[in-house]
Amino acid sequence: MDRQKLQRLRERYAGRDAFDGDDPVLTRAASDVRSPDGRRALPYSGVATFLGLPHAPGATELDIAVVGVPMDLGVSNRAGARFGPRAVRTIERIGPYHPTLRGVPKARARAADIGDVPFTSRYSLEQSLHDIEQFYLGLKAHGIRPLSVGGDHSITYPILKALGRDQPLALVHIDAHCDTMGAYDGSKFHHGGPFRLAVLDGVLDPERTVQIGIRGAANMFWEFSHAAGMTVIYMEDFLRLGLDAVIARARAVVGEHPVYVSVDVDGFDPAYAPGTGTPEAGGLEAREGLALLRGLSGLNIVGADVVEVAPQYDPTTNTAQLAAQILFEEFALMTLGRE
Ligand code: MN
Ligand code: MN
Repeated sequence: MDRQKLQRLRERYAGRDAFDGDDPVLTRAASDVRSPDGRRALPYSGVATFLGLPHAPGATELDIAVVGVPMDLGVSNRAGARFGPRAVRTIERIGPYHPTLRGVPKARARAADIGDVPFTSRYSLEQSLHDIEQFYLGLKAHGIRPLSVGGDHSITYPILKALGRDQPLALVHIDAHCDTMGAYDGSKFHHGGPFRLAVLDGVLDPERTVQIGIRGAANMFWEFSHAAGMTVIYMEDFLRLGLDAVIARARAVVGEHPVYVSVDVDGFDPAYAPGTGTPEAGGLEAREGLALLRGLSGLNIVGADVVEVAPQYDPTTNTAQLAAQILFEEFALMTLGRE
């Protein structure tokens, strides 16, 4: 090694601390991350919250509230997503810096983990959906944008009912399933049908809806998506079109319209997300899903979720790890993505 170069490196870096750098964006991020006493918080210590945010149940002076929705009465097969919020809260070291949007989301918004939706009955799906709608109407009244962790996918219907009450929303939906199925076993409420109900209630605009990652034996049930004019990108289409074309398609469908982002972890391949109730082989790779979400930067996102994390089928905790990363990506899109 050149001795003069070594000398310059010693002068520049020998006495520097971890947060000092030359890039002004990274310097700003470092000051956003650093605590006042210059120490870094221990990621494995303290009470677990979503993304390490402050725990503030009942807070109303917020821009973004992360909410747990521990309810899985709508599953068609393996139960367990009621434990999803707890599993995602235990994941540490997600963020706080976002590498492609180049900033610290929690420094750009008033955000907190406000706890879980309070449920009136652990036995009634319909009552639970009602409880969720009421809770989200309260958030909407305070101008708070919700970021939710399920729970099974039936929770997204009452969330859309609350958020889309004044104007039908656009939707970016990542899932192995379109979730636009009709009633069966005597119930129209289940995790296979929230988006059909939302369209029929006039709170979701099907022509501004894009569904990505669809595959598997349930494809025979998705007639409603096509009849209503949703853009359905099956896994075969995803592979043929490629990531950039799928992002362009999603952005064209949504435009500047207020949009909700809903991510079912079963949209990912079971290799990355085994901990879910209805896994389907041949799904998105983790890196494809993250790149897809990062491609949505700039959209007018009014709320987002990640659902269907069932930790008892997740021996490595990779599913919860991926879900926490998705939650952070959504948080980043809702803050830095609109700066
Ligand atoms: Mn789903
Ligand atoms: Mn699904």
